[in-house]
Order: sequence, then structure tokens, then C-alpha cells
Amino acid sequence: MKDLYSNIDSSRIGLCQSVLEGAGIASYIQNENSPWLVNMMSPGVQPTLCIVDDERYDEAVKLLKPLNDNEAPAGADWTCAECGESNPSSFEVCWSCAAAKTSA
Ligand SMILES: [Zn+2]
Repeated sequence: MKDLYSNIDSSRIGLCQSVLEGAGIASYIQNENSPWLVNMMSPGVQPTLCIVDDERYDEAVKLLKPLNDNEAPAGADWTCAECGESNPSSFEVCWSCAAAKTSA
């Protein structure tokens, strides 16, 4: 068995497990019942999705990748052309001077 995916949010883990189930891949969750606060204090015991059949590990990673990609930021920060401040990709206008986002 191998660890596939860890997340502080056990509902994410459950979602991933249901995707694997749909593909017929056996998995189980470690530390599922740890209190949330304990997880916050000790990241090492956060819920972890483990695969039972190592031979299907690569397949499982591919199945879960689209789910986990959705958590990542949409793109790189952008720099305001007006004032030069750096803005997160999710901002449509500059947080500092409210100039519209310009595509670099
Ligand atoms: Zn600006």
C-alpha cells in the first residue's frame, strides 16, 4: 500500500476515494477520525488516502490529478501596469489603484 493523497479536509479525501471506487480501485483512509484540531496542530496525522493495490497506483494518481489541480491557483501573479504592484491571478483589478488587469 502507498499513500496517495493527504488533505486536512476529510471531505476532499472522501471525494477522492469515491472517484477511485468508481474506477474499481480499492483504497482506505488513514487518520480519518482524528479530531480536526489535532490535525491542525500536527500535519503528520491529517487524513490520508491510501491505495491497497500498489499496481494501480499510477492509474489512481492520474484519476485524482484533475481533482487536485482544481485547488491550485489559476495562474501566476500579475503586475499592475499603472502602479507596479503585484496582484494575485484571481484579481481582475489592481488591489492598490483599481486599474484593470492587463495581460502581460
Ligand atoms: Zn495598480
